[in-house]
Amino acid sequence: MEERDFDVIVVGSGCAGAIAAYVAAKKGKSVLVVERGEYAGAKNMTGGRIYAHSLKAVFDKYGEGEIEWDEIPFERKVTHERIAMMDATSNMTIDFTSEQLGEMGKDSYTVLRGPFDQWLAEQAENAGCEYICGIAVEELLKDESGAVIGIKAGEDEITAHVVIIAEGVNSLLAERCLGAPRPKRNEMAVGIKEVFELSPEQIEDRFLCPEGEGAAMLFVGDATHGEVGGGFLYTNKDSISLGLVATIENMSKANTTIYQCLDDFKKHPAVAPIIRGAEMVEHSGHMVSEGGYNMIPKYTYDGALIAGDAAMLCMNLGYMVRGMDLAVASGQFAAEAACDAIDAEDVSEAGLASYKQKMDNSFVIKDLATFSKWPSTMEHWGRMFTDYPKMVSEIFNAMFVVDGEPALPLKKRMMPIVKQRGLFKLASEVRGALKAL
Ligand SMILES: Cc1cc2nc3c(=O)[nH]c(=O)nc-3n(C[C@H](O)[C@H](O)[C@H](O)COP(=O)(O)OP(=O)(O)OC[C@H]3O[C@@H](n4cnc5c(N)ncnc54)[C@H](O)[C@@H]3O)c2cc1C
Repeated sequence: MEERDFDVIVVGSGCAGAIAAYVAAKKGKSVLVVERGEYAGAKNMTGGRIYAHSLKAVFDKYGEGEIEWDEIPFERKVTHERIAMMDATSNMTIDFTSEQLGEMGKDSYTVLRGPFDQWLAEQAENAGCEYICGIAVEELLKDESGAVIGIKAGEDEITAHVVIIAEGVNSLLAERCLGAPRPKRNEMAVGIKEVFELSPEQIEDRFLCPEGEGAAMLFVGDATHGEVGGGFLYTNKDSISLGLVATIENMSKANTTIYQCLDDFKKHPAVAPIIRGAEMVEHSGHMVSEGGYNMIPKYTYDGALIAGDAAMLCMNLGYMVRGMDLAVASGQFAAEAACDAIDAEDVSEAGLASYKQKMDNSFVIKDLATFSKWPSTMEHWGRMFTDYPKMVSEIFNAMFVVDGEPALPLKKRMMPIVKQRGLFKLASEVRGALKAL
């Protein structure tokens, strides 16, 4: 193979990029990471909670015992799962706790991307990667056959045998230089988030969590003023991440804005007491891919691989959001495939094909395929975000309100509420949703 400046160049140091760089360096390759933020994590945003299994798989395989689990800057281990359905004034929450949620390999943690991504980048640097921060990659360099042979960043042209594109959602490099299709508006969502400071004791008291443990909470209904999307809340060590995600297509047609939704969400009786007295210390916004399996582009090219959100590896199931564990695993697989191809001196698309095989055989593609029908089911299930929360409110009001009027049997109180929505329609909608989930 021709001489190159590096074996591998990684574009972006989020979950996918930092792990790809770490793995490639651990496999003995020279690696350059180019990150447009002033430091890794400077521009990144998540809800967020990471399901830790894929991180554990990487460090078990490549960590050589150097990484202690408790040195990872996780915020809190999530042991409380809450799902809430709210209309404008009421809220019904399911609160689930279980020992299994905290077991090693099944555990998940809240994270703040600033410290988390910097720590990931540190591991990549310790493994031998070189970092350039504060510069965006603008172009991919190609040879006369069209194969990717490097990058252009600022004034510099730097070559590599393989370029791993891990620049996150809305990957302009994939679109502009590799012809990946532009995502449709109904496949993309906008997310906004605010971080509120609270003491650890306040968090543990407000969420009934043991010391060091925390809660993840998703909201459907009035959080987005009835538009497709939802609210999220994650407890960090001494802060709370609170925000909303709503599809761009719906929001652009709605009679509201995401900022108005967030304002009202913070005032809702189910949310206001949680952030009472807390100072807002951070505000951020980011896009999220929502289309799931059906929007995954081609991700293996001559000389280049795409990993993480840049390959649209993200899923929002309404009761859970997953992107970071998919990003970590895809970063690992991309790096392994790149290293094997370099060793075999064939970095053509065919030489890099083991990336797709690894992805197809792993939870990444299998899980996205399992839930492939959910994004369109959710998109066309408007009542889930409007009428269902209202119905739930009516049901629970009918159950709990005592006003001195002679009470009817429960069935007589419930049936009119349900029948009003069409019993058959309701059953068929729920059946459709269960089939997609
Ligand atoms: C509101 C919201 C809530 C979410 N909640 C969750 C959650 O709770 N759990 C979960 O698992 N996932 C969640 N996700 C999804 C998750 O954040 C992503 O799936 C994950 O961050 C993808 O990681 P990545 O490394 O592919 O991309 P990113 O984390 O976006 O990293 C991309 C990196 O590339 C850099 N970059 C971009 N362009 C260039 C360029 N041209 N040159 C150089 N560098 C560049 C960026 O600065 C960034 O550092 C959420 C997302 C949002 C927006």
